[in-house]
Amino acid sequence: VYVEMPLAVGAELALPDGPAAHLARVLRLAVGDRCVLFNGDGQDYPAIVTAAGKRELRVRLDAPVAVDNESSLRIVLLQGVARGEKMDLILQKATELGVVEVRPLVSQRSEVKLDAARAARRLIHWQGVVIAACEQCGRARVPLVAAPLPLSAVLAGLGTSPHRERVHQADDLRLLLDPDGDLAIRDLTIANGVTEVVLAVGPEGGWSPDDRGQLLAAGFGGLRLGPRILRTETAGLAAIAALQAGFGD
Ligand code: SAM
Repeated sequence: VYVEMPLAVGAELALPDGPAAHLARVLRLAVGDRCVLFNGDGQDYPAIVTAAGKRELRVRLDAPVAVDNESSLRIVLLQGVARGEKMDLILQKATELGVVEVRPLVSQRSEVKLDAARAARRLIHWQGVVIAACEQCGRARVPLVAAPLPLSAVLAGLGTSPHRERVHQADDLRLLLDPDGDLAIRDLTIANGVTEVVLAVGPEGGWSPDDRGQLLAAGFGGLRLGPRILRTETAGLAAIAALQAGFGD
């Protein structure tokens, strides 16, 4: 279970309301039962329940165990915001497939329009989807989900992250999923020293000529996935799976 708090061996903690309710009411843990906590630092913290009441659940932490299941290839997904549940599906599956960062984008042909309040609510919801996917698939590092931004702002912010050091453009490979792309997966090579693939997937309405121009100017090369038009939720997930199979784990 994910908890957003510092964890240290031997500590006895009262869990925040959300995880406490999940462990007590959904998983029905009682005193003496064991569970595993993580806070995104790459480790699992086995724990034993020391108090379980209606209002609080306390645990004592054992020594953490390093979790070694991150891919050697960092994949950053630039995803055109898709409608409701489709976006949840993309975030859930991208997390399972090992993506390290998702940057939702709004472009000229986006069918989803988000005002600031709605964007803020969606972001909180998406972060919950990603955390639940980590719990399910056993990742102990939580992919970063950025706030949805116009394509130009997403491109301007590439290589920066509040949680990571800047990645230089020379260290990343930028790919734009496009049915008319020049490259096929089988032609792709990833040069030595490239540690990150940035993969841009258009929204339901696809890329406009202006979007394509911006992406090409930012160093993206067009990648095609075959002669059929895929839905946005299929395209990104298929490309991530192919990249992990060929170049990561
Ligand atoms: N009519 C739109 C077009 O032709 O671009 C269809 C857009 S498609 C539903 C949404 C996004 O999925 C596209 O912008 C592209 O990023 C990706 N996509 C769909 N099929 C693809 C393919 N065969 N190869 C690469 N990318 C694809």
